Amino acid sequence: MSHAAPPTVSPEKPSDPANTLGLDYRALADELPYRGPVVDIHTHVTSPKAAELFLEVAELYGVVKTFTMTGIDHAKKVAPIAGEKIEFMCVPDFLKRDRPGTFTTQWLDDIRAFREELGCRVLKLWAAPRVIDLAEQVPDEGFNAETVKLDSPLRRQGVELAYDLGYRTFMTHVADPDTWFATAYADASRYGTKRQQYEPLERLLDDFADCTWIGAHMGGTPEDLDFLQQLLDRHPNFVVDTSACKWQVRELSKHPGKFSEFCRRNPGRVLFGTDIVASEQMDQVGFDLFASRFWALRTLIETDYDGPSPIVDPDLHKVDPSVPEHSTPPLRGAAIDEDELLKTIYHDAAVKLLEPAGGL
Ligand SMILES: [Zn+2]
Repeated sequence: MSHAAPPTVSPEKPSDPANTLGLDYRALADELPYRGPVVDIHTHVTSPKAAELFLEVAELYGVVKTFTMTGIDHAKKVAPIAGEKIEFMCVPDFLKRDRPGTFTTQWLDDIRAFREELGCRVLKLWAAPRVIDLAEQVPDEGFNAETVKLDSPLRRQGVELAYDLGYRTFMTHVADPDTWFATAYADASRYGTKRQQYEPLERLLDDFADCTWIGAHMGGTPEDLDFLQQLLDRHPNFVVDTSACKWQVRELSKHPGKFSEFCRRNPGRVLFGTDIVASEQMDQVGFDLFASRFWALRTLIETDYDGPSPIVDPDLHKVDPSVPEHSTPPLRGAAIDEDELLKTIYHDAAVKLLEPAGGL
């Protein structure tokens, strides 16, 4: 059984929700035990200026290569300043959500353009339950409650096109935190249950068995690593990333021993990722904003830290309104200390994944 420590309460609004403890993230980067190279398999870096600061912070935390989900126009602007340090993953251009076709006809064109113009090797399929809300908001008849499903004919058309073009790696976001199913997704007749989110994923894992599928955010289920293990056992072509810092810190800190055991049992199938959003358009740029994610996730994986997280987690208040709004959860490190396993999580798993497509 997991046990939940009480959240740390901040009495007033903290000056920086990414650094409630006033940490010196630049100095702390040097104190982390693991000294080898890091690949960040999951980010959203959307402009040259944001990319410059992101890359500075990433380098401090050992990152030698970053994979980002960036709409194609911005990707082409980021590419010249990032060189080999950043590789793009194919996504629809969410910043152009108000244009008809962005998630349908244009998406199919983008799958080809990403491959042919940017050498893209990974296609991301975002299928969080709230995609159904997005479909209602955008002016695109072809993007609706049916076609947003992860294995709808539209999505499959995209995957097949990608396959024909040579993509062999797909990333999916299915499900979302348990806290959201208890709140925003409480209407299961609209959003489905958490378990139901995995049904279309398992069909795709079977139907595209010679491709590797990365389940973002610990496969969407850091709360239940036994369930995740069953998915991995059923599907040898399924791997996960560690991204979504607040979510992983909140949930994996409830069972750090289980998390380390999971990593040991599945070497090469847990990839390091942050889900950092580095975007001027969304007003998400800042040294501490980026550094806090690297520091917290690496602290969670490789140290025995047991104290408050420095990052405000709004879900604590959403789930329990009696908890103050600017609270941070406990952060309890999994203390993985085997160098080889750490190098696998941080670097080699991504290298191995992309080997058939030319390596890193
Ligand atoms: Zn993401």
